Amino acid sequence: MVRHPRVDAIADEARAAIGRATSSTQLEELRVRYLGRQGTLTMLLRSLGSLPAAERPRVGAAANEVKRELEALLELRLGETREAERRLERARQRIDLTLPGRRPLPGGVHPLTRVQDEIVSIFVGLGFSVAEGPEIEDDYHNFEALNIPRDHPARDMQDTFYLSEDTLLRTQTSPVQIRTMQAQRPPVRIIVPGRVYRRDADITHSPMFHQVEGLAVDRSISMGDLKGTLELFAREMFGGRAKIRFRPSFFPFTEPSAEVDVLCFLCGGGGCRVCKQSGWLEILGSGMVHPQVLRNVGYDPEEVTGWAFGMGVERVAMLKYGIDDIRLFFENDLRFLRQFV
Ligand SMILES: [Zn+2]
Repeated sequence: MVRHPRVDAIADEARAAIGRATSSTQLEELRVRYLGRQGTLTMLLRSLGSLPAAERPRVGAAANEVKRELEALLELRLGETREAERRLERARQRIDLTLPGRRPLPGGVHPLTRVQDEIVSIFVGLGFSVAEGPEIEDDYHNFEALNIPRDHPARDMQDTFYLSEDTLLRTQTSPVQIRTMQAQRPPVRIIVPGRVYRRDADITHSPMFHQVEGLAVDRSISMGDLKGTLELFAREMFGGRAKIRFRPSFFPFTEPSAEVDVLCFLCGGGGCRVCKQSGWLEILGSGMVHPQVLRNVGYDPEEVTGWAFGMGVERVAMLKYGIDDIRLFFENDLRFLRQFV
């Protein structure tokens, strides 16, 4: 075996490095470092011409011998490490068929959406069509056209979110009545679901909440039609034995006006905590559309009449599901929401 100190130094360093390598990636790097085009041993062989003539054959022979040795050594170690790596990979990918499966979390309809859809679909079944309008409204559509005079308490700064002197977040879905009547001639039969905003927050009030509003305008529409329609709605919504009663009330945009109560579906009218022992639950406001409102949209109150009603979706949902804090609807606590899936 031919030997030379410079070749020996490279060979010792390379053998030690190959011995320490623990992965095929490291071994490939070592192959490049010693035997690659720019590798230490390759460069030595290329520089033979610059050595004294007497030394050339010895260095050349030694270097070629070491080159063959390192190639064989790398091949052997690569074979071993690749096999070990394959074994590890197979173990990592092995599927344990005894593990329990992972169930995807089922999505659910939010209780407010569910109640709102239920209310809307009852009226759609009666021939009403769904109408929507902007949540940012102007003073005219939200108040003025609805016969709410400048000094009405509903206009108070503490109730309304004003964006500018003339624009505000709508406090009710009623401006959609105005926009719809302005855009079409009677007859009108619409159901209007939507978000509304008021500066009010406690366990039964949220600054953003949902209303569903209904409007019917046609020739010879009466309070009797309103009562019949709401009775049918109550039976569909709260069960076949549901009863309603009208109590006189006041709203600027209806005349006459009535609050509508539904017989408490929890105690059947006997009195309980939810109905505060009265046997009745207040669920909506209603009335005959005020003649001035009809005139404001260009309808002739001598020719057509109409009725309107509005209810809070949160209130209906709280009664229906026995929820006593409105904030639960907006906290997105899955423990709460999963009860409605
Ligand atoms: Zn009750």
